[in-house]
Amino acid sequence: MKPYLKRAWAEVSLPQLRKNMEIIRGLNSEKTEIMAVVKADAYGHGYDRVCRCLTEDCGIRYFAVSNLDEAISVRELCPEAEILILGYTPPEYAHEISEYNIIQGVVSMEYALALCQNSPERVRCHVKIDTGMGRIGLRYGTPAECAEEVVRMCSIEGLSVEGIYTHFAVADSDSADNIAFTDHQEKFITDTYDELVKRGIKLPHVHFMNSAATCYRNTSKSTLSRAGIIIYGLHPDVSLDIPEGLSPVMELKAVISQVKTVPAGTCISYGRTFVAEHEMRIATVTIGYADGYSRLLSSKGEILVHGKRCRITGRVCMDQLMIDVSEVPEAKSGDIVTLIGRDGDDMITADELATVCGTIGYEVVCGISKRVPRIYIDNK
Ligand SMILES: *Cc1c(COP(=O)(O)O)cnc(C)c1O
Repeated sequence: MKPYLKRAWAEVSLPQLRKNMEIIRGLNSEKTEIMAVVKADAYGHGYDRVCRCLTEDCGIRYFAVSNLDEAISVRELCPEAEILILGYTPPEYAHEISEYNIIQGVVSMEYALALCQNSPERVRCHVKIDTGMGRIGLRYGTPAECAEEVVRMCSIEGLSVEGIYTHFAVADSDSADNIAFTDHQEKFITDTYDELVKRGIKLPHVHFMNSAATCYRNTSKSTLSRAGIIIYGLHPDVSLDIPEGLSPVMELKAVISQVKTVPAGTCISYGRTFVAEHEMRIATVTIGYADGYSRLLSSKGEILVHGKRCRITGRVCMDQLMIDVSEVPEAKSGDIVTLIGRDGDDMITADELATVCGTIGYEVVCGISKRVPRIYIDNK
């Protein structure tokens, strides 16, 4: 265990990743290819091993990232892949977009022109349409007007428009109102595509499915399914079930550095927010908020020790935290504990921690910091 000193580490299961991909492939129609979203270091799982596993073992050809830096990293691992940058690239870097054969998401005519001015070669792009997310993209009242602008973009020399896409705002909700909203978003993008066809432009791609849409409203009308969170086995929204078999890929572990029995009245951690009401056995654990284990879990979060849930006592510190192991007499210094993952019959998920913190599983896994080494488990 030397390279990571057995302090705090994340175990990433490649067999589970492959299994999740197989399930996602089963959700999609034959006309839809998976575009694996690997932004933010593959949602904190480590893009290097994740991308290699996805290309070599799962046959994934399409990847989506958030910026040029991520795109170049993926390009170096996957020379044959199609890589789409979903977010902003400063136009000054347009020549690198072409040099690395990357596809850029284009949000306006102005941006399209700026890209072309900065690259001697053709810049490949997919045009982003804002159909209701209110974030980035062309925003027009009607699909026809939107198509007109895309037609104008198609005539720009130096720009190669290969697709249009949009992003759903509430595909992870089953309320009637939100379903109607997503229906409208979907209709807008597919109508825009049809308007382009009417004008003689048949683009290879039109895509709008994210993880939630892939699970709950899969359609062959989207040429790509931009799956992110479900690849890693987490929920787009915790209130809705995800397809059977999808399961978390990452576990988070640390060790007990010390166990002591303290009398009633003992204060634990900064701020003296926790005071032992009776005699307790307190274990100190080698992980803290600098590892991405949120301070919002202070006195609230639970950790698995020998398969039993133990409550955090007092504030989470930068590198350490304390838990109540009164009910786990066998707990001792050097024992491995599970902060995210399965131990025995019980399991703590990133989604569960997120709920305690008032956020989403996405933020929990992306937030596991650089200090935490990723250890890859494989059975090949
Ligand atoms: C992050 C992102 C996705 C993936 O979203 P998930 O909910 O993780 O599937 C898809 N499309 C765009 C534009 C994104 O920014």
